[in-house]
Amino acid sequence: MRVFDLHQDLLYHILSNPNDIKILENYKNFGIEKFIFAIFPFRSFFSFYDVEEPLLFTLRGIEIAYDISNKFNLKIIRSFEDLEDGNIIIGIEGLYFVRSVYELRIIHRLGVRSIGLVWNKDNLICSYFNSKNDFGLTDLGFEIVENAINLKMAVDLAHSSDKTFFDVINHFKRNIFVSHTGIRELNNIKRNLSEDMIYEISKINGIVGIAFGDIFLSNLNLKQVSEYIAKLVEKFPNTIAIGSDFFGVPKEHQIENLNEPSHFINLYNHLKNYLSDELIEKLFYKNAFEFFKRVLA
Ligand SMILES: [Zn+2]
Repeated sequence: MRVFDLHQDLLYHILSNPNDIKILENYKNFGIEKFIFAIFPFRSFFSFYDVEEPLLFTLRGIEIAYDISNKFNLKIIRSFEDLEDGNIIIGIEGLYFVRSVYELRIIHRLGVRSIGLVWNKDNLICSYFNSKNDFGLTDLGFEIVENAINLKMAVDLAHSSDKTFFDVINHFKRNIFVSHTGIRELNNIKRNLSEDMIYEISKINGIVGIAFGDIFLSNLNLKQVSEYIAKLVEKFPNTIAIGSDFFGVPKEHQIENLNEPSHFINLYNHLKNYLSDELIEKLFYKNAFEFFKRVLA
């Protein structure tokens, strides 16, 4: 089993529990070959961490990604050539510090290759899923997405509003993905995607990472989650991927035996009852790998 996880809140976790950074020594044993290291740029969640601004917080997050890379011998993926043996893609979860294309270019130079446009608060780029005033992608947002694609960055629509989602996918036909989401057919909230929206992503060769928690998949247990994911994979074999959101889901919302990096094998073992090895490989690894090949080419 090889895993390419499109979303982990590891930074959030190790800032609050610095000793747990050692878990990275075990990632290869857990099958985790590649993952997006998400930088969540809000200080309000880190009151113990003395940084005022999302930009400064993001810069520290990027530096921590390089520290981790050195300490645990995990290679940061910055180019097509890095993809084969690389391990970490640095991703931003919400462009709250972007005022112009210059900030985008700077974080690109620093190695960021995935940009989530928004989190749980509107910004200058676009509106988020629960926005009171769903204005969609702004003019600046269009400029940022266009430049990001030209810079060979992936554009992540997790947390976006429906209008933002459709503004982006109606206008841009490549590099678009959703790193971590649930399914509206299971839990009908705006944070999740409907299967029709997944179909729209599949039409532009994007991918969708399924996240694990009751807000994403309702109260299903591991066996039921496996059955549902198997059906989704059969429907969208080149589109469905994994975006666990491990470390980002509060305890009371987690799925038993599917809530930490060592648990991928549990899902894998269940899926073997429903899916061919080839489809399991696409879900856990290949769809994400092929997507980033297209992004970085
Ligand atoms: Zn998130």
